[in-house]
Amino acid sequence: MNSNILDPKLYTKLYLNGQYVEAQNKETYSLKNPKNNTIVTENVPIAGPEDIEAARTECLLKLASLLDEELMPILTLDSLASGIPVSLAPVREKTYIRNCVLYYAGWTDKHKGDYFPDDDGFVKLVRHEPLGVCAAINPFNSPLGCFFLKAAPALATGNVMIIKPSEKTPLGSLAIAALFEKAGFPPGVIQVVTGPGSTGALLAGHMRIRKISFTGSVPTGKKIQQAAAQSNLKRVTLELGGKSPAVIFEDANLENALTWTINAILTRSGQLCVAASRVYVHKSIADKFIEEYVKRMKAATNEFGDPQDPAVKLGPMVDKSQLELVKQRVEQGKSEAELLVGGAQHGETGCYMEPTVFLNPKPDADIYRNEVFGPVSVIKTFDTEEEVVKLANDTEFGLMAGVFTKDVTRAIRVSSALDAGVVGVNCVSLQSLQAPFGGKKQSGVGREFGEYALRIFTEPKTVLINMAA
Ligand code: NAD
Repeated sequence: MNSNILDPKLYTKLYLNGQYVEAQNKETYSLKNPKNNTIVTENVPIAGPEDIEAARTECLLKLASLLDEELMPILTLDSLASGIPVSLAPVREKTYIRNCVLYYAGWTDKHKGDYFPDDDGFVKLVRHEPLGVCAAINPFNSPLGCFFLKAAPALATGNVMIIKPSEKTPLGSLAIAALFEKAGFPPGVIQVVTGPGSTGALLAGHMRIRKISFTGSVPTGKKIQQAAAQSNLKRVTLELGGKSPAVIFEDANLENALTWTINAILTRSGQLCVAASRVYVHKSIADKFIEEYVKRMKAATNEFGDPQDPAVKLGPMVDKSQLELVKQRVEQGKSEAELLVGGAQHGETGCYMEPTVFLNPKPDADIYRNEVFGPVSVIKTFDTEEEVVKLANDTEFGLMAGVFTKDVTRAIRVSSALDAGVVGVNCVSLQSLQAPFGGKKQSGVGREFGEYALRIFTEPKTVLINMAA
């Protein structure tokens, strides 16, 4: 053993991110030997708030730089079970993961509290305190995106997090977890547990977990909220399903509307919470729009391929059970709406589902009212703005909506009338890292992304200071 390390005077620095660094706070304290009160060393640093922030900021920044090299192979690993084409990985990496970590690294020293003056004799300070042990329960369709969108704000605000990926797609989450310690986070700050719903239920009902951030289906979300209430009233954020409408008016740029609505239902083979699965087209442009929409959905079948091939854009459904579920719903849909294209499994090996389009469904058709979570859309035509807003809002979902028009006034009017957590104007089925994301009605409870994610991983504490004492 190097005898140097036994010299107490050596320890004048903090140990952060795998190295000894000068504390930003210049205060120190001394240690005395209890047998005779002699000084052992005088300069043990006292880490101040700025050091604590620096530790979190630096770990997150280091994590982002580790992701530069290590994320792509892990996304590829994840795609082995998820079937998500690796061709999507560069975009997912850029938009959702690396930028997300950098974004929340920047927040570590900016999530400020509040102050109220002593007009009643008490100064009021408000601190935003971390909740403690938080858990994330994630869906199969966005394993690493959800991982970081929850872990980055949770860690940035001083929590620790247990992540349970979907039993269908656990590999990437297990692989990426090791990077956190490599980035300098203390062991245990991020933990990954795998297993099915029963494992998730253990987290939801746990007495020492203080927060569940859940992304998944509506029925599971309800169970989680119930388990949270029945255990320790842990805080719950629910990011749930959708049946997102895209409304295309007669003056819309048709090429733009086609590009967005097609991408919106084909990305990840329709396994996207914000997929525009209801498309409303104004009657005056319906023939033209539908002809081209159907043509492109049909042609997309040629894009099916091996999701591990970087040139392939369209992959399979996540597994056989999901494929069978979608096939069943489509079979039922054939008697409830006019099938325009698709409607069957593509090929015999693998879990590929043909892009499928239905027209003018019966008002209560399952295919029209419920989330299918596959490459399946329903088109309905309309006459007036009032009629289409009513149709679009006639649902228990309220995650995303899109309005396509060149008329700015109408865009503003309709975007405020559409009952959804996010509305795109001349775009649909997308999220922005900086802006709140979440659902209205049964599509969710609470908002994640941006500054809003910091609020859900902290709780305000008010400190009242008696100025007369
Ligand atoms: P799911 O609800 O079946 O499962 C999600 C997670 O919950 C899995 O990890 C699962 O193991 C776990 N789980 C299941 N039962 C549980 C229980 N009783 N207690 C605790 N955990 C339990 O959802 P899925 O099929 O993996 O994902 C698809 C759904 O997720 C779709 O409805 C989709 O719209 C939704 N989703 C929403 C968003 C969003 O941000 N709003 C994003 C992606 C996916």
